[in-house]
Amino acid sequence: MTRLPALLASALLLPFPLAAQAPPAADARLASLKEEAIRRVDSLARFTRQVNDQIFSYGELGFQEGETSRYLVALLRREGFTVEESVAGMPTAWVATWGRGKPVIALGADIDGIPQASQKPGVAYRDPVVPGAPGHGEGHNAGPALNITAAIAVKRIMQRERIPGTLKIWPGVAEELVGAKAYLVRAGVFRDVDVCLFAHISDNFTTSWGSSSQNAIVSVLFSFEGQSAHAAGAPWRGRSALDAVELMDIGWNFRREHLRLQQRSHSVIVDGGDQPNVVPPSASVWYYFRETDYPRTVELLETATRVAEGAAMMTGTKLAGTRILGSAWSGHFNRPIAQAMTRNIERVGLPQWSEADQTLARALQKELKVEEKGLATRLDTLEGPTPEEQKRGGGSDDIGDVSWTVPTVTLRFPSNIPNLPGHNWANAISMATPIAHKGVTAGAKAQAMTMLDILLTPALVDSAWRYFREVQTKDVTYKPFMRADENPATHLNTAVMARYRDAMRKYYYDPTKYETYLEQLGIIYPTVRR
Ligand SMILES: [Zn+2]
Repeated sequence: MTRLPALLASALLLPFPLAAQAPPAADARLASLKEEAIRRVDSLARFTRQVNDQIFSYGELGFQEGETSRYLVALLRREGFTVEESVAGMPTAWVATWGRGKPVIALGADIDGIPQASQKPGVAYRDPVVPGAPGHGEGHNAGPALNITAAIAVKRIMQRERIPGTLKIWPGVAEELVGAKAYLVRAGVFRDVDVCLFAHISDNFTTSWGSSSQNAIVSVLFSFEGQSAHAAGAPWRGRSALDAVELMDIGWNFRREHLRLQQRSHSVIVDGGDQPNVVPPSASVWYYFRETDYPRTVELLETATRVAEGAAMMTGTKLAGTRILGSAWSGHFNRPIAQAMTRNIERVGLPQWSEADQTLARALQKELKVEEKGLATRLDTLEGPTPEEQKRGGGSDDIGDVSWTVPTVTLRFPSNIPNLPGHNWANAISMATPIAHKGVTAGAKAQAMTMLDILLTPALVDSAWRYFREVQTKDVTYKPFMRADENPATHLNTAVMARYRDAMRKYYYDPTKYETYLEQLGIIYPTVRR
C-alpha cells in the first residue's frame, strides 16, 4: 500500500471530528476489560495454534473449502454459536452467530488457498507436501484462528459482565476468485451489522482508513463458439473457437498500451479445444480486469468485450457469452474504527521473534534473492486514504463490497515474512510455524480489544456510521458488478481439488497426536540450506 506524507495525512484528518470521549469511569472499566482480553487470548494460544495449523493442512481452493468449513462450523457450534450453512447459495459459506441485541459485530477472514502452492512449513526453500497440490500460499489459514480466538475471549467477558451485543463470524470463501463477498452482501448477511472487522494476513501489524490502494476487479469468462471439422481433411469447413481466443488475447495485449497505468489485466485459457485434429468448436478465456474504481473497471470490461466481438468477427465464430465469475469493489475503510484499532495495535505491539523465527525469515529472503532483513521489528503506522494521483494499481479483495455496505476495517496482522512474491509457495512457509502463531495471537488481542471498544462505546459506533454516511458514501452509491441473474461460480476448482484431495488427506493435521503440525510432518524448525 502507498503511504501518505505525514503532513498530508494530518490535513485529511482535520475535517472529521474525533469520537466523543467516554467518561473516566467507563474508560477505566474498558481498559481493565481490555487487559483481561489480552490475558484470555494468551491463555488460548494452544487452541489458536491448532485452528491455524488445521486449516493450513487442508489447503483448499476457493469454493471447495469443504473440510475447512466443516471443521470451523463444528468448532463454533461447540462454542455455543448458532450456524447457518450454505449461505447465499455457496455450500462452503456460513454465518455463525452468538449473543443478543446491539451492537452487531461481524468478524470476517478468508479461508481459501492458492493453486500449486503446497509447501512444507518451516522449510526455507521449495519443498512441497504434495507436489502440484494447492496450499496456503497467501496465508488465509490464519485469519479464522484469529477471529475465533478473539470472539471466544470477548464472549466470556460479555457473559460475565452481561454486555449486550451480537457476534457474527463469517468466512471469506473463494477470495482468490473474488467470488463470494458481493453475494454475501446481496443475500443480506450484513443487513443488521453495525461494524465489520476483517482480518488479513500481512508481514506487519496495521490497519488503514479511507480509499484504499486496492483495485476494483471484475473476473469474466469469454466463451466462443465455432464449427468443428477434420483439421486435415476439411479444415475450410471448420471455424476455430481457439483462434478467436488467441486473437482476443492479441487484441487485448495491443490495446494494453493505450490503457491507464493503474489498470491490471491478466488471463488464462481454460478451454483451448480437445485435440489437434478436431477444429475446436468451443473455447474460452478467463480474464481479470482491474482498475481503481467501479466505473473505470466497467469501462475496461466494455472495451474487452468489443475486442472479443472483433475476434469473433475475424474468425467467423461467435462470442457465445460472457459470465462474471467474481468481482470486487475497491475498499474504503472506516476512519473512527481504524483509529480505535490502531490504539489497540500499539498497545499489543509486534510479537517477540525468536532467533529461529528470524533465521527462517532471512534464509527464505536469501533463497528468493531479496534483501535479508528478517521479520518486522518496527510497527507500521496507521495509513490514511491513498490520493487518486498516488494510486498505482495492484491487487484486490472483495472485502471492498462489504466496506461499501457497513463500516469496515481490515486488521493486517504479522504472521508472514516480508518481501515475498505473494500467491506463491514461499508465502506458505511461515504459515504453520511459530511466526504465524505469534502473529495470530497478537492480532487476536487487537481484534478483541477493538470489539470491546465497539461494545462499550456507543459513541464510537455513532461516529463510524457518521463517517460512513457523511464522508464515504456522500457521493458514491454501491451497486454490485454482477448482473441480477448471476450466481456464485461454485463449480470452480472442483476438478483440481478432486485430483489432489486423496493425496492431501494423508497430511491433514491430527492435533490429538501432535502438538503442532511441524511435529506431525517431522520438520526441524527452522530447516534452512547449509
Ligand atoms: Zn488474501
